[in-house]
Amino acid sequence: MRSTIFIWSRRGNMSTNVILARMGEVTLKGLNRGKFEAQLKNNLKYRLRDFGKLKIYQSQSRIYIEAKEEGNPVFENEKSAEQILHAVTQVFGIVSASLAYKFNCDDIEGVQENALTYVRGFLQLHPEYKTFKVESKRGNKRFPMKSPEICDYVGGYILENVPSLTVNVKEPDFILHVEIRDDNYVYAGKTMGHRGLPVGTSGKGMLLLSGGIDSPVAGYMMASRGMQLDAVYFHSFPYTSDQAKQKVIDLARIVSRFSGKMNLYVVNFTKIQLDMVKNSPEDMITITMRRVMLQIAEQLALKTGCGCLITGESLGQVASQTLEAINITNEVVKLPILRPLIGMDKEATCDLSRKIGAFETSILPYEDCCTVFVAKHPKTHPKHEDIEKAEANLDIAGMVNDGVTQGLEVIEI
Ligand code: ATP
Ligand code: MG
Repeated sequence: MRSTIFIWSRRGNMSTNVILARMGEVTLKGLNRGKFEAQLKNNLKYRLRDFGKLKIYQSQSRIYIEAKEEGNPVFENEKSAEQILHAVTQVFGIVSASLAYKFNCDDIEGVQENALTYVRGFLQLHPEYKTFKVESKRGNKRFPMKSPEICDYVGGYILENVPSLTVNVKEPDFILHVEIRDDNYVYAGKTMGHRGLPVGTSGKGMLLLSGGIDSPVAGYMMASRGMQLDAVYFHSFPYTSDQAKQKVIDLARIVSRFSGKMNLYVVNFTKIQLDMVKNSPEDMITITMRRVMLQIAEQLALKTGCGCLITGESLGQVASQTLEAINITNEVVKLPILRPLIGMDKEATCDLSRKIGAFETSILPYEDCCTVFVAKHPKTHPKHEDIEKAEANLDIAGMVNDGVTQGLEVIEI
């Protein structure tokens, strides 16, 4: 048999040249499946835009990502290959992904050689691994060996050549997968993705993004259902500092790693808030402020094609998040307000915040406009007459208009 292992030319110690990414819920879509897959490929392309020229294509329930023919150094060292793998797993719609080596050969010697090179590269990333087993799939029935034999030959060759490894079929440190198809693949290890649906398949929402823990997580959760995001932040300079604003910009960037491009609208909220403090009872400030925020957010949403508002509220967490307070704030807008954290406890939200890499930024101690002017004893069960009284001396329509026109800043994230 003539070995053709070097058809795919290797440079240096290159042991991976492709990422296998597995799709999840997308594959359950019926007639619309093509649309979801196209969006997913586009989103991958955008998320990987800094990694040089890549070929992204799909076959069955997998997406393959590889360097274009002319070469792309991203796969040449294990560290940068890990970075690209990490980025792939942050794209919603991907269930898991593996760094693999794709090669083209029609004999077992070629498969053995390529598997060995792959394992050597893999062990550089995981030097602690001591045991393995081989699993094989043979889609190409012209290949002259069946799966169990392929496992024996490849496993034996690796044992001979990598003295630090032994076989453990019950609980191996890693499984080496060998797939013989039109092209052949070897890979081990699987990095879990964030699942969900590709962003862009469920419309667009306006996220009310504060500098806290909750709202970035709320944005992440809606994006995981395929929703594209824009965000709005209410800034009361100088009562809230430039650092507080920078923190929100940083959080928007973190959310956008998952949700893609977004515009962040920074509303100049100082005058509006001072006006409320002066002309409205202290114990109702939180509610009146929230009502105005939502109306401004709705105006922005309508202008930018967003079909809903999104907040990080969770039932009963603070005074403004009781059922009565939620009802009274809902009344002022027509667009639906999505509150993905409504039934979550704080610990679960903090865990998610850590998982998406937002927590360390969220807990930086900069003030928020809600905390600067907060009442000592806010009303937790507001009634209609309370809100009527509280807003009697306020020009709400004027405030909302000011919010969307006076000093509005748009930051592209
Ligand atoms: P977070 O952790 O998101 O700040 P929170 O638990 O502090 O939430 P609140 O301060 O009552 O709760 O805010 C509830 C929601 O209102 C926030 O999750 C966010 O969606 C929105 N919100 C609050 N303050 C602002 C702000 N300054 N700009 C934009 N949205 C805000
Ligand atoms: Mg907050």
